[in-house]
Amino acid sequence: MTFAATILTLYPEMFPGPLGISLAGRALEEGTWSCEPVQIRDFAADKHRTVDDTPAGGGAGMVLKVDVLARAVDHALELHPDCPVLAMTPRGKPVTQARIRELAAGPGVTILCGRFEGFDERIFAGRPVEEVSVGDIVLSGGEPAALMLLDACIRLLPGVMGAPSSGTEESFEEGLLEYPHYTRPVEWEGRTIPEVLRSGDHAKIEAWRKRHAEDDTRLRRPDLWERHRGVRD
Ligand code: SAH
Repeated sequence: MTFAATILTLYPEMFPGPLGISLAGRALEEGTWSCEPVQIRDFAADKHRTVDDTPAGGGAGMVLKVDVLARAVDHALELHPDCPVLAMTPRGKPVTQARIRELAAGPGVTILCGRFEGFDERIFAGRPVEEVSVGDIVLSGGEPAALMLLDACIRLLPGVMGAPSSGTEESFEEGLLEYPHYTRPVEWEGRTIPEVLRSGDHAKIEAWRKRHAEDDTRLRRPDLWERHRGVRD
């Protein structure tokens, strides 16, 4: 089954962009996923094809018009009624690997990309749109956020990644960061690969990796560590 990615954007030429290359690119060619950018401007009602207007209450920048957004969302819902609609916004719920897994297991996703100051808030009450953030940073548009979200979904689609285990041992999959990796040369600028990883003792290697995944998570991401402990206890 093809995972249908529909992207509502003012810059359709940004897609598939980097997702046309490497693993995602091959998967696109093979029909594992489809990429359908839709120009939001096509849903403007006036002859100037206006998509934005000044913010109510004043202030800098422009706001995407709710009527135009609603027509674009309705179009996507007609095309793919079963695909969730995600709006990219720093005000949204931070995306997690668990949510990515859910999305990748479904029929596809419709992504609404903002520009300027963002969306007229009423779109979220008026249409079934989930507000999603890709982190506590501010991008100039939703497109790079959409590419990031799609990349995370596509690599999980059946057949896209070589070894299936490389998907489940990853950072976040067990609620922890992944353990660190090394490869040859054994010595580089006086630094060596930890002895245990060269020992061939699989039980010891596994124990070392588990300890590092736990220690690194505790030190680097106390937020993840607390949640992990909460789930375990
Ligand atoms: N004025 C807004 C930011 C607008 S940035 C605010 O302060 O909340 C312009 C667009 O970039 C947004 O509409 C959104 O689609 C996208 N964007 C910026 N940062 C993002 C983030 N962290 N996650 C998801 N989308 C983001």
